[in-house]
Amino acid sequence: MINNISNYFKTKEKLYMNKLFSFFKHSIFPKKESPFLKVDAFHTIGFLPTMALEQQIVTQNISAVSAWCSVCNDARTMTISTAFVDAIKNGGFINWREDAICQVCHFNARTRATVDLVNLLFSKKKIQSAYITEAVTPLFFRLKEKINGLVGSEYLGGDKVGGQLYACQGQLIRHEDVTRLSFSDNELDLLLSFDVLEHVSDYKLALTEIYRTLKQGGHALLTTPINPRLKSTVTRAYVDSVDLQVKHLLEPVYHGDPINNSGILCFHDFGIDIVDILYLIGFSKVDVFIAQSKNRYYLGDFHIFLYLTK
Ligand SMILES: [Zn+2]
Repeated sequence: MINNISNYFKTKEKLYMNKLFSFFKHSIFPKKESPFLKVDAFHTIGFLPTMALEQQIVTQNISAVSAWCSVCNDARTMTISTAFVDAIKNGGFINWREDAICQVCHFNARTRATVDLVNLLFSKKKIQSAYITEAVTPLFFRLKEKINGLVGSEYLGGDKVGGQLYACQGQLIRHEDVTRLSFSDNELDLLLSFDVLEHVSDYKLALTEIYRTLKQGGHALLTTPINPRLKSTVTRAYVDSVDLQVKHLLEPVYHGDPINNSGILCFHDFGIDIVDILYLIGFSKVDVFIAQSKNRYYLGDFHIFLYLTK
């Protein structure tokens, strides 16, 4: 009897503590907050609700914050990198997308927002064929858990055959060139491509391939660094069609690459004309989602997702 009473109280206490913890968790990090702003044109972007928070981080050199992690599905400590703080001090470009790194899952703001938006857009959709232009990243493995049969690939070199598997980093990886995908016309329900387009010299050909391989009514979710204050896309470099060498028009800029330690060249700085270009290619609808969240630390106005419907 005493045992039963003690167990009863223990259970009660456990329930109460759980309730209390979840109350605090939700009061600090309300899951109901909508972390995305949906716009159909860039000129409709007005005041950003995270601006005060951004200023606070910049002026106070904050190096760690508490935030909601959509990958861990819990409240976590996120770090703001030293390089980031230096960029702030020197008045340089602040890349909010690649920072605020969760100390448990190590996803940054960009990849956490991607997981959030994929959940929001596709968790209730029936998807039979889905492809993503990455295969070795933590984001790929996370999304593979969410989307049944998600196929991933990496670009492994011009001498490789699309759709074939090659040994890479101790595993077999599918090769695809996004300017000549091995998928058939109208094959895919969903195509995901995150921060790849800026590294493709002929990005319009890549977008045409995305359009070709999607089913009618199929969707693509893309990110590429877009500067909402840039009217027209600037080409920084291109591959010469005669000698196939890279020609630079502006100072070369390299981004991190999961399969190449020396980084990957950025060919374009995208501007807001990307939306017009997508309509010209044939997409019937282009929605723009901007990740904005004080609780998840999706800051700045560069956190842009393009959601395309064929
Ligand atoms: Zn996390």
